[in-house]
Amino acid sequence: MLASSKDCGTTMSLIQGLAAHAAGAELLPFRYDPGHLGQQEVEIGISHCGICHSDIHLISNDWGISQYPFIPGHEIIGTVTAVGSQVRSLKPGQRVGLGWQSNSCGQCEWCTRGMENLCPESEGTCVHRNGGYADRVRANAAFVFPIPDALPSEQAAPLLCGGITVYNPLRTHGINPSSRVGVVGIGGLGHLAIQFARVFGAQVTAFSTSAAKEDEARALGAHSFVNTRETKALREVAGSLDFILSTINANQDWGIYIQALRPSGTLCFVGVPPSPVSINAFPLISGIRSISGSPIGSPHQIREMLDVAARHGVKATTECFPMDKANDAIEKVKKNKVRYRAVLAR
Ligand code: NAP
Ligand code: ZN
Repeated sequence: MLASSKDCGTTMSLIQGLAAHAAGAELLPFRYDPGHLGQQEVEIGISHCGICHSDIHLISNDWGISQYPFIPGHEIIGTVTAVGSQVRSLKPGQRVGLGWQSNSCGQCEWCTRGMENLCPESEGTCVHRNGGYADRVRANAAFVFPIPDALPSEQAAPLLCGGITVYNPLRTHGINPSSRVGVVGIGGLGHLAIQFARVFGAQVTAFSTSAAKEDEARALGAHSFVNTRETKALREVAGSLDFILSTINANQDWGIYIQALRPSGTLCFVGVPPSPVSINAFPLISGIRSISGSPIGSPHQIREMLDVAARHGVKATTECFPMDKANDAIEKVKKNKVRYRAVLAR
């Protein structure tokens, strides 16, 4: 039986989840009172939540922004259980998704331009608040998206962060059938990047430390595969790619990837290496090459990405764990043993 509290005339039960109570600690059962439901807010009864590597960075406080206890999780699928008094776009019972961002100011230059993901007041679903390794979660309705029927919940959950994080830069950088795209790291983000790059018509090269992923990378749509443990193979692709998307969370000799670019090419970071990126300026200057980064996407881009995924058959390859086995799933992600996204199900 859930405990409950009376607030604003509505009976609210405590939200039950799994929280880290200290940096790097195992997740333990934790419940909190969500308070009253805001006028613009939606409450979601969670059915699935992906384990993004950003959750693992947050649990470990790798970015120095974590506050404990906190419940990770920002690749959420579920059903609307309650809507605030001003919410017109969603109804109880609707199947919806929620990603990294839960709110923005709605007033600033970036929000009014439809680039809410760049809002300085942006609120993360599980940064300084509690996320989706739980029975329920709340967010501003503007960041809660109906899920197309063609996308099963388990395979759709990873699109809400991993999917949009790779879709946005591919789209923004104008990837098209003449593009030669490299995807570095074939994990949760990388395996979706291969699929979206193929939807845009590009020629795709997968870069991976895991030789065993070659057949699956090709089945996902990669035309070629480079084993990055072989320096010779890496050097052979010099000057061959227009756009390289790095999804890895490790340090590398980034100069080799700059050398892999054609003139005017871009190396774009979505994965977060632990150390500063050190690059020799000369190949940037001589070939007008660029280094770039990219965050998630705006609500408009997320809706577009879900529609594209549904119509073109982009789906996460998932390994499903019961929610109460989240710690086992996290250990498997840390060992790079999951193919390709762990998803918690309730
Ligand atoms: P993931 O599923 O764990 O995949 C990461 C992949 O990186 C692994 O599968 C592995 O691919 C490769 N890798 C791991 N360790 C490596 C090493 N030591 N050297 C070289 N390659 C290595 O993680 P993810 O969920 O895709 O997230 C990846 C990164 O993106 C994280 O840093 C995460 O925080 C970040 N992220 C950023 C955003 C954003 O808004 N920009 C959004 C979501 C996530 P191979 O086996 O193929 O080598
Ligand atoms: Zn994420």
